[in-house]
Amino acid sequence: MAAPRSGETVGRADLHTHTTASDGSLAPADLIAAARSRGLAAIAITDHDTVEGVEDALTIASPGLRIMVGVELSCVLGKVDIHMLGYGFDTAASGLRSLLGNRAMERRERAATIVERLVAFGAPVELNRVIELAGPGTIGRPHIARALVEAGHASSVGDAFDRFLGTGQPGYVERPELSPERAITEIHAAGGAAVLAHPLYSPGYAGFLPGLVEAGLDGIEVVYPDHNPETRRSLSQLAAQFGLVETGGTDFHGDFGRPGKGLGDTTVSVDVIDQLAARSARRRAARTRP
Ligand code: AMP
Ligand code: ZN
Ligand code: FE
Ligand code: FE
Repeated sequence: MAAPRSGETVGRADLHTHTTASDGSLAPADLIAAARSRGLAAIAITDHDTVEGVEDALTIASPGLRIMVGVELSCVLGKVDIHMLGYGFDTAASGLRSLLGNRAMERRERAATIVERLVAFGAPVELNRVIELAGPGTIGRPHIARALVEAGHASSVGDAFDRFLGTGQPGYVERPELSPERAITEIHAAGGAAVLAHPLYSPGYAGFLPGLVEAGLDGIEVVYPDHNPETRRSLSQLAAQFGLVETGGTDFHGDFGRPGKGLGDTTVSVDVIDQLAARSARRRAARTRP
């Protein structure tokens, strides 16, 4: 294994990463190689609405690197987008599998609708090209953004989001709603722990957090590239107040991500994995108790 670039990644975990199974640029094997070369102790693979990437990763030998099962579910509460991370669950659990299957189908339908809107708006892209760019994984707006760049309608993925795909733009299409409470319930039913992702992107999170805690939320993503020290401090306080595990990671998407999110650049102690596992174990024990 290559030596870590610096001591800071020893014993460290990046608990928020994406692969080609959703909208990341690295295949699971390449993500593992990158994590090992950075000296990380663990990564969680948290693809949007699919566990295919992490299932692949678990079949690959990765000495010295722990790989944690994860997923990221896009939810809506009122008008607010909430991303719910699930960790350490059984990927074969039937309830979660059927939810993921439905979400993947909805993503394909939504991509087709977005493409129709773009055609009508005068920025045509081919649906087949979008599907090709998504590869075998779940389709997301980043794939449509790349098709827009290829077709010369946008100068970059960011530009495509700003002018076509972001909320309120001509190509913006909402997804069928999934409530965060339902996401938490499904993650728990599959034996996992539920964590609120990048709260900063969900305006008013301090107001809705108690409701999610009531629904069984286990943790909150405190360490994240876009969270400044002050945000981290206030999220840390909320975690302590509500008894939540403090998690973190980079939301690594490889070349397709927003700039400034290198794998392992923002990490938590590898112990956080055990804290999440302990929460799930306690919940499972409580459920099987007569
Ligand atoms: P979707 O799941 O299809 O709604 O697409 C959401 C994905 O698009 C997330 O993974 C984000 O990382 C990515 N994304 C959202 N806004 C932007 C942006 N302005 N620039 C680049 N990527 C973005
Ligand atoms: Zn993504
Ligand atoms: Fe997210
Ligand atoms: Fe993410």
